Amino acid sequence: MAAHAENGIRVESFSKVAKQGDVCLVRTSGPASLKSIHGEFQGKRFPIAFNNETGTYEGLIGIDMSTSPETYEIKVIATDGDNRVYSSALSLRVEKVDFGIQALSLPPDMVDLDAKTLERVNQEATKLEALFQISRDEKLWEGVFIRPVEGEISTGFGLNRIINGQQRSQHSGVDLRAEKGTSVLASNQGVVVLVDELFFSGKSVILDHGWGLYSMYFHLSEVLVKEGNLVRTGAILGRVGSTGRSTGSHLHWGIRINGARVDPFALLKTGTL
Ligand SMILES: [Zn+2]
Repeated sequence: MAAHAENGIRVESFSKVAKQGDVCLVRTSGPASLKSIHGEFQGKRFPIAFNNETGTYEGLIGIDMSTSPETYEIKVIATDGDNRVYSSALSLRVEKVDFGIQALSLPPDMVDLDAKTLERVNQEATKLEALFQISRDEKLWEGVFIRPVEGEISTGFGLNRIINGQQRSQHSGVDLRAEKGTSVLASNQGVVVLVDELFFSGKSVILDHGWGLYSMYFHLSEVLVKEGNLVRTGAILGRVGSTGRSTGSHLHWGIRINGARVDPFALLKTGTL
């Protein structure tokens, strides 16, 4: 790579430390004429593209909330018009977060599931996980992401839940308090890839923003979009409700990046791409 210094690439700027649930912008310098470029993190590829505004190549990575706190390598690989291959790597240290604990009381039939319900829940989880593994080459989102509703956070990201005295899963999104019927807005431009009524999430909408980035909107009282619709930032997807396993009117808002469960507010803080 040193022999081709003029054409070389260099991962040059992003934080060297991240927290569980974080979103990191990966920025790479290099000539605008590269034929291909992509990144690799935790054994998965992630897309990188030239940003005219910054004159650098940029990509996003998500640090799943349960990522083991260690040092990871982020690799960027590029080829130029003569098929010369360049690579550059940087280490990223992931720090542990104390997400806190939330104790909840719920009706036992929402917690201790019978065999049939358990089968339904597992099928739904499998379907969603499969969806989040699909990464559309095209980047559909533009600029910064927005909050889908105003309102206080009632349950923060990553909380470890103790439900009816038993340890259950971590909270993989944020809950925003809002009146029933409040409009739920698309966080950014994307395609509606799921409209369904799920056991835990109730009436749900999932948007695919491309590049493996998904946003989800759960517990809606009403859905106003259909699968396949392309929606713009701020489009009304539906109304706040309390469907599924929910103790009151709120919006559960979640973000996935290449399968990683990340804090939606970490995405809001990330620079534009
Ligand atoms: Zn929630």
